[in-house]
Amino acid sequence: GPGVPSIIETRESEVRGYCRGWPTTFDTAQGAWITDTSGRKFLDFFAGAGSLNYGHNNPILKEALIDYIARDGITHGLDMATVAKKEFLETFENVILKPRKLDYKVQFPGPTGTNSVEAALKLARKATGREAIINFTNAFHGMTLGALSVTGNSMKRAGAGIPLVHATPMPYDNYFGGVTEDFQWFERVLDDSGSGLNRPAAVIVETVQGEGGVNVARPEWLAALAELCARRDILLIVDDVQMGCGRTGPFFSFEIAGITPDIVTVSKSISGYGLPMALTLFKPELDIWAPGEHNGTFRGNNPAFVTSKVALDTYWSNNALELDTIRKGQKIAENFDDLAKKYEGEVHGRGRGMVQGLVFDKPELASKACEIAFGNGLLAETSGPSDEVVKLLPPLTITDDELDQGLAILADATEQVLS
Ligand code: PMP
Repeated sequence: GPGVPSIIETRESEVRGYCRGWPTTFDTAQGAWITDTSGRKFLDFFAGAGSLNYGHNNPILKEALIDYIARDGITHGLDMATVAKKEFLETFENVILKPRKLDYKVQFPGPTGTNSVEAALKLARKATGREAIINFTNAFHGMTLGALSVTGNSMKRAGAGIPLVHATPMPYDNYFGGVTEDFQWFERVLDDSGSGLNRPAAVIVETVQGEGGVNVARPEWLAALAELCARRDILLIVDDVQMGCGRTGPFFSFEIAGITPDIVTVSKSISGYGLPMALTLFKPELDIWAPGEHNGTFRGNNPAFVTSKVALDTYWSNNALELDTIRKGQKIAENFDDLAKKYEGEVHGRGRGMVQGLVFDKPELASKACEIAFGNGLLAETSGPSDEVVKLLPPLTITDDELDQGLAILADATEQVLS
């Protein structure tokens, strides 16, 4: 392959990551395929870390974007009123909120998922007048100091020193190896003046932990958590940055648990085109911001509003994508179950919808399998505290044939590292 250009290796900071695991230079991409400068095509089961649920350069969104730019539509608009923003909000209301009977105010907190988490944490503290946040083992919420404080990954936290936000981690569902835990321990810690925990402002949770290793919370666990929060007057924040926009099937990943979080963070695939965009959603009574109290130069990425509106109209006006995501997710899960049977005790699968993880008993083998898969034309990344999980996030719009091709490459790589 063409390798990584030397200026990237000499001039870009050592903090660079993905170009080490995938040492080539990418140039163009379409659908589930990404092409390097030597013309080599890879199936992309990474999809921009979950930002490309409708594939690379989705033709319907591309046309809308080209039309918008051709007519000199506003690109940068801070939070001024624009036609693109108005049309996005109307579509979000009619296609997403109303059919789900959800009443959320919409904040544009800045361009990234982390910006949305920061706004959520700030709002929870402002609304309750309390400071403490409950987070979970293996959580990932972003890399700024606030979001990092509620992230449970010691490697990611190592450089930052003392967390900025007072956060107390609790065990995530199944943390104790599949033993059904109720929330008695949780309530005891909250009630115990010896726990050092002040009454928390909020709990922040992912319904499936993506970066944490595809850890799946049961719907009943999420429902019990929501009930606990409501009873104790603690705000519930669901971080849907990676699992939202249909990754697990429904548009919001919490729909499966029948809960209505107080605050929801959305980013990654919300623009549908890999353009930076984020939303912080909250119940109307929480809209206590003063004008301009949370701002940011890139709050109004209007091209992203344009592609987002078209993506919502195209893929969420009916439930076809949701059903197809569940079906294709089952297909991946069955493929992983077959591997688990064949290599008993060495690998097993877990996931929900089209986020599926293949867990390696020997952690280092997951990265080895990804390396071999890359050599055979598949991009897949590892996740989990020891990078022991190969995490698949293919575009939701991938064809069955492409899905089968990618799964065959991964199965072959798995066989190679295990034999
Ligand atoms: N929350 C979750 C659940 C995420 O998966 C991520 C990104 N992996 C973030 C927040 C941070 O988003 P961003 O990288 O866009 O800041």
